Amino acid sequence: MLLSGSVRTSARDAVNSIMRTFEIPGAVLFTKAEDEFFRSDPQTLTISDEQLRWIATSEEPLIDHQRQIAIVPVRLGGQVLGSLGFLGSALSTAALNAVTYLVAIGIERARSLEEGSKTEALRQSGALKAVLLDALAHDLKTPLTSIKGAVNAEEKELLTIANEEADRMNRLVVEVLEMARIEAAKFHPDRSSHGIAEIVSAAVKAQEESLKGRRVELQVPDLLPAADVDFEFIQQVLKQLLDNAVKYSPPGSLLTIDAGMAGEKIVISVADHGKGIPEAEQARIFEKFYRGRASRDEVLGTGLGLSIAKGIIEAHGGRIWVTSQPGQGSIFSFALPVTKKELVP
Ligand code: ADP
Repeated sequence: MLLSGSVRTSARDAVNSIMRTFEIPGAVLFTKAEDEFFRSDPQTLTISDEQLRWIATSEEPLIDHQRQIAIVPVRLGGQVLGSLGFLGSALSTAALNAVTYLVAIGIERARSLEEGSKTEALRQSGALKAVLLDALAHDLKTPLTSIKGAVNAEEKELLTIANEEADRMNRLVVEVLEMARIEAAKFHPDRSSHGIAEIVSAAVKAQEESLKGRRVELQVPDLLPAADVDFEFIQQVLKQLLDNAVKYSPPGSLLTIDAGMAGEKIVISVADHGKGIPEAEQARIFEKFYRGRASRDEVLGTGLGLSIAKGIIEAHGGRIWVTSQPGQGSIFSFALPVTKKELVP
C-alpha cells in the first residue's frame, strides 16, 4: 500500500489486504476528500455509507459485538481522513487502531504523490513528515504519561527507578522529535529583532535551577547590534550549552558567558572549567546521538542536545563550534548574523 502512487489503488489494496491478513469477511474504507467508498466485497454493504460518513464526522469509533462490525475514524495528526469498517469481531481495539493508523499514512502519502508535479510531491512529503511527527509525538507520549501516573500513585521506593527511567525516555522522545522536526520542512524560525543581553539573561534565568548556585560570570557589552532570531530557539541553544557546562564540569566551578562582535557577526560563548573534549571528538559531538567516550558511562544523556543546537543555529544562517583544552575546560560558541548596525542594550 505504501508503494502505490494513487489514493484509489492504495485504498483498494488496503481493504483487500486487511481482509486477507486478518481473515475477516470484509473491510470498507471511506475517504472524505474523494467522498468515495472502497469495499473489499458486497458483504460489506451491511456497513452503510451513512454509518461510515457518520463515524468520520463524529470521530468516535463504533464497535458492535452483536452485529460483528467495527468502524473507526481514520486519523492522522489530528485530521480525520475518513473511516474504516471491519466485518467480524476478530480484531482487538489495539489492532484496529494500528491498522487504521497505517492506512492513514498510506492514503496521505499516496495523496501527496498524486497532487501535482514531482517537486510538489516532494514538498508535500515534507509536510507529511511534519504531520506524521505530530501523530508520533502523541502516540509516544501517551503511554509515558500513564506510566508516570501509575508510578506516582504507588509511592513505593522501588518504583523510583521506573519513574526516573520514564523521565529519561520522555526526554529522549522529546529530543528525537525535536531533532526530526528541525530536519523536516516544518522548521522555520519565527524571527524578529532581539537584543543579545535580553536572550542571555532569559536563558540564565530559565536555567536557574539546573545552575544549582553556580557562579555565572556575564561578559556582555552594554550595547551590541540586534540579531534577527527566533527568541525561543536561540534561548534554547544557550540553555543547552549551560546545561552541558553544568553536567560536564565540577560542582562549584566558574561558568562564563561572553558576547561580542567578530567581524559582521555576533558571537556568544559559554565557557566552563571541566575536563574538556579530546580533539578527535570535537567535531563528532555535534553529530546525532554521539556521546563523548569519557561521559558515556558517567553522565546521563541522549547525545542529541548539541545536534539540535546545531540545527537551530544553522537554520538562522549561523555557525556553532567548540574549542577545548583537555584538562582545562571547553568553550562552546555560536555566531549569528546581525540585523541592523545600530546598537541596542
Ligand atoms: P549529551 O550531553 O546528552 O551526551 P550532547 O549532544 O549535549 O549530548 O553532547 C554530546 C557530547 O559532547 C557529550 O556526550 C559530551 O561528551 C560532550 N560535551 C558536551 N558539552 C560538553 C562540555 N561542556 N564539556 C565537555 N564535554 C562536553
